[in-house]
Amino acid sequence: MATLRTRFAPSPTGFLHIGGARTALYNWAYTRRLGGSFVLRIEDTDRERSTAESEAAVLGGLEWLGIDWDEGPFRQSERAELYAAAIERLLAQDRAYRCVCTPDEIEARRQAVVATGGKWTYDGRCAEANHGPACGPHAVRLRVPREGKLGFDDGVFGPSGQEARELGDMVIRRTDGTPLYHLAGVVDDVAMGITHVIRGADHLNNTPFQLALYRALDATPPQFAHVPLIVGTDGRKLSKRRDPVSVQHFRDAGYLPDAMLNWLVRIGWSHGDQEIFSRDEIRALFDLSEVHRSSGQADPGKLDWLNQHYIKERPRDALVRELLPFLAAAGTPVEPSESLGFLVDLLRERSKTLVEMAERARFFAVADDAIAYDADAVRKHWKPAALAALKDLADELARCERWDLASIEAAFSNVLGRHEGLALGKLAQPVRIAVTGSAASPGIFETVFVLGRERARARIERALGALSAA
Ligand code: GLU
Repeated sequence: MATLRTRFAPSPTGFLHIGGARTALYNWAYTRRLGGSFVLRIEDTDRERSTAESEAAVLGGLEWLGIDWDEGPFRQSERAELYAAAIERLLAQDRAYRCVCTPDEIEARRQAVVATGGKWTYDGRCAEANHGPACGPHAVRLRVPREGKLGFDDGVFGPSGQEARELGDMVIRRTDGTPLYHLAGVVDDVAMGITHVIRGADHLNNTPFQLALYRALDATPPQFAHVPLIVGTDGRKLSKRRDPVSVQHFRDAGYLPDAMLNWLVRIGWSHGDQEIFSRDEIRALFDLSEVHRSSGQADPGKLDWLNQHYIKERPRDALVRELLPFLAAAGTPVEPSESLGFLVDLLRERSKTLVEMAERARFFAVADDAIAYDADAVRKHWKPAALAALKDLADELARCERWDLASIEAAFSNVLGRHEGLALGKLAQPVRIAVTGSAASPGIFETVFVLGRERARARIERALGALSAA
């Protein structure tokens, strides 16, 4: 059997859509399990809509997800000669012909057919006309068989296809000389030795005509597998306007690539009841036979759940590294440190995304004199009764011989011992406001610890000054 060869063939006309990312993932996983080559081909023949930024966004998205390819990226814009040669060959073999019908003429004939209740396919007017190269403006059409079925056994949908006569002779080269997507794609799939075409179900209807092209090119068609579309939880098709659909969006929103990969693989595929799939498990277990035929739902709640799982599991150093850009985006760049690692461990249990984690870690990253105090928290917790204790705590912290959780806890209890009737909560909340600006943070001892002696003390003193009138 020929070595397995798959491809992902995005059109670089926007961002990397989650549907495209999932198609790439399925191709990648399938190839990695069975061994073979995964080819990346950029289908940029539409020069008006294709852009270099979009190509960069697609490649960047794949790289971020960790979907690596073995060959490419090839660009169709650099392979025009191959398509032109294939079309010339088909013309020379009389498997294709020149068609001089203008769009207006075709439209008039189409309307006449439709008016009598018929279904239009090109009526073959130029099929036997033998137009030569000098016939003036012309398109090129493939001679599609008049009889028989252009059928195939789809890897997901099973026996599929269409009666050849329903297609008519379709255009493979436009009047402006550019090849149609079908022609370029099939010529490339043949030239690249692609054995399996795994792509979105929106291409299911394109396959019969492409089979006719394989036949005309004397090539063996690949195994096709069309994966179901992705819909929202309401069952509606995802809309670019309404739904977050770009991989970039999820990356910026603080999702981890592993969570994203796990989420994507499960939209339309399952393996028993398992929900969590590591990258290695995806590579080891993914199979087309378990891809569903019905549309897959993109459930944001599931993604949050998965992301939280992966945030909890992620090694500390990796998570710190991944958090840094989000802290920087919040306007407070910091360097990795032991303290930040400690904080990340405190926050990982309660953060659904890195954006959330960065918000909670912000107090650590900002300068001591840049803490902004939450007005509600101040109103509620900044009570005169606690202020003397707060000053006392600042001094007590300065006296701590060692800087660890036990010493900090002891410092608090020494202070409470000297301030009759003051409960820990009544002291902890003002301290929290002083050192973080808000009434919500991890445990107070941990919060003070992570800041370090000098910063904690400086913040308490600053708050005492700034909020004394409160
Ligand atoms: N360029 C096509 C698309 O982005 C893919 C074609 C194919 O996979 O055959 O939809």
